[in-house]
Amino acid sequence: MNFLEERIVKDGIVKEGNVLKVDSFLNHQMDINLFEEMGAEFKHRFADANITKIVTIESSGIGIACIVARYFNVPVVFAKKSKSINIDGDMYVAEVESFTHKCKNQVIVSKKFLNEDDHILIIDDFLANGCALQGLISIVSEAGGTVEGIGIAIEKGFQAGGRMIRNLGYRLESLAIVDNMDAENGTIEFREQ
Ligand code: 5GP
Repeated sequence: MNFLEERIVKDGIVKEGNVLKVDSFLNHQMDINLFEEMGAEFKHRFADANITKIVTIESSGIGIACIVARYFNVPVVFAKKSKSINIDGDMYVAEVESFTHKCKNQVIVSKKFLNEDDHILIIDDFLANGCALQGLISIVSEAGGTVEGIGIAIEKGFQAGGRMIRNLGYRLESLAIVDNMDAENGTIEFREQ
């Protein structure tokens, strides 16, 4: 097991409805030393990629993205959730369905912060059905930028997102892939990588 898998086993809680709760170290209280290890690992895995920006989505991807960005020495742009229907032409817009909150959000990125010269590493905390990633990919494409890679902390391998994104040809690296989890007895099985 790697450092993140060990931490998930120690502090993660399997909930009903295919939800893994990791709020004691990843997306509510945040263990920055763990994030540092994740940043170093993403830098190692994408060492050959020429990254100009990290892109993530509000809110729980932001903390990880900031630490990863230090390893690549580039800025972070996060897609903001927006309720406004009157979005002007200065924004890239995508619709994203939230896995955890079961609602649809528009996410926006200002056209000032992404363009055709950008080589993007997308970072997020979880990959489930892939809606968040599809939204981010569509925003980068609309800007004319290139998605060089996607780094995910925890992929739930029993949901469709990972396969879909890999089938589209993206370079997707997940630090932990959960292939099975059981809410009743709390067991978690990881994919060998
Ligand atoms: P997707 O769009 O791939 O279906 O879901 C990804 C988003 O949903 C992530 O940004 C994450 O915030 C949230 N998410 C999905 N599954 C889980 C989960 O099992 N636990 C937690 N804490 N968040 C999740």
